[in-house]
Amino acid sequence: MLKVKSVVKEFSGFRAVDECSFEVEKNTITGLIGPNGAGKTTMFNLIAGSLKLDQGEVYFSEQKVNNFAPHQIARLGLARTFQIPKTLRKMTVLENLMLVPSGQSGENIWNSWFRGAKVENEEKVNAAKAYETLEFLEMEHLADEMAVNLSGGQKKLLELGRALMAEPELILLDEPGAGVNPTLLNKIAENILKLKERGKTILLIEHNMDLIMNICDRVIVMNDGKHLVEGTPAEIKTNPQVLEAYLGE
Ligand code: ADP
Repeated sequence: MLKVKSVVKEFSGFRAVDECSFEVEKNTITGLIGPNGAGKTTMFNLIAGSLKLDQGEVYFSEQKVNNFAPHQIARLGLARTFQIPKTLRKMTVLENLMLVPSGQSGENIWNSWFRGAKVENEEKVNAAKAYETLEFLEMEHLADEMAVNLSGGQKKLLELGRALMAEPELILLDEPGAGVNPTLLNKIAENILKLKERGKTILLIEHNMDLIMNICDRVIVMNDGKHLVEGTPAEIKTNPQVLEAYLGE
């Protein structure tokens, strides 16, 4: 589903990502871990097109997507979670979801003048999809709640919901467990597993090792911008190289 080959990214001569290669199999949950500054976030940005690669290649479903714009990669079926932006925090959970898909005909002024019927229909489809997403996440009761009033874990669920509205094949999750209480953490883990059951592929950055151990099929460890090791959660847990990398943090 995703292939990263010898990717390099430098910031003013400093290699944040250094000849890093890995693959993510379709319909798996893969954890991307490593100490702070390992290059995980930079790697996410390179995959999603938010940053340009200096060297190397990124393939998504066999297609080379090097330096595609974020919206072009999104259109191919890749979505990532983002913190709810400030302006959207003052809107309801349902509105947050309904605002996601871009490129709808209603956004184009000519379409809204001449193709009113189509726009209305798309809005209905979009609302139905938003409710379906809420149901999937078991958040229906929060539909009319302002995003700003959600707890940390509920915000994470909403971020996931916003990513799902784009109906992606590959979902990049940036620390889905950060700042989440144990009850909601279980729910987030369950939802990620449910997405896998539905055939989706998930790559997540996460510091919560319990979450990584409980849900991941594979774990990739980055250190100093490089691919250090990878394996099953059990293999990674006992790998001395991984322990050493974290101790040197
Ligand atoms: P991680 O997500 O694993 O903590 P990052 O990808 O955020 O690591 O950062 C990797 C390294 O690159 C760090 O040393 C960080 O300071 C540096 N870095 C990240 N983004 C930038 C940037 N925009 N400009 C300069 N340095 C950056």
